[in-house]
Amino acid sequence: MIENSYLWVVSDVDGTLMDHSYDLTPAIETIKTLKKLSIPVILCTSKTASEVKVIRKELNITDPYIVENGGAIYGESLKKVNGKIILGEKYELLEEILNFISKEIDYKLIPLNNLSDKDATNLTGLKGNSLDLMRDRHWSMPFLNPPNFLEEKIKMSCKKFKVDIFKGNRMSHLLSINSNKGKAINALKKYANIPNIKIIGLGDSPNDMPLLLNSDIRVVIPGITGPNLDLLDQLKDLEYILASEPNGYGWKNEITKLINKLELI
Ligand SMILES: [Mg+2]
Repeated sequence: MIENSYLWVVSDVDGTLMDHSYDLTPAIETIKTLKKLSIPVILCTSKTASEVKVIRKELNITDPYIVENGGAIYGESLKKVNGKIILGEKYELLEEILNFISKEIDYKLIPLNNLSDKDATNLTGLKGNSLDLMRDRHWSMPFLNPPNFLEEKIKMSCKKFKVDIFKGNRMSHLLSINSNKGKAINALKKYANIPNIKIIGLGDSPNDMPLLLNSDIRVVIPGITGPNLDLLDQLKDLEYILASEPNGYGWKNEITKLINKLELI
């Protein structure tokens, strides 16, 4: 129960808890240990609720989960709010805004959900039913990364439409300015209503910046070719831990070190 714990682990999923081949096994034992210690593991991801449900089941996690880059929080235990807290704007509205921005910058930004099965598989590695789960999106708008030279123009346009764009390793995400991973963490803290919650936050890419900024202990998880350099640049004035191994192995090692250091065992 999040209401009974002063320490939370809040973790991104893709590239952080698992690698890009979607392997969750390295972290499983550590998650069991956290459960024994009654430390909630709050998944905080750009994935959809339908996708996260499968992962929670596999990891046997029952804590609330933040989906669609902070667009919504779900959880059976969030009884006071009927199991959900919505922060984002509806997909259909975000799609309209993406089209407006495309017109303004004179470059067609393409929603992830508009890709053919083949193109979506090439980009994400997902196939079959997993593609349907990925497309079951309600509160955020992932789209193909635009070329770098358009970034400034897009930023200007976002201000006008009250949206933000976060760039992930494989795609970008258009979100209402009222929703991001950090805002969702704060909404969950407010819901839990316990003072001085400490958060161990783990992420791997710039779309985890709001997550890491709202964490007390920040852990950056590298990929197999090293850490995301844009993320390290954004964190340069802040204290953070860079995991020594990639993906789930880095996750497991750093969490284990931290729970030993905090003398929780
Ligand atoms: Mg990630």
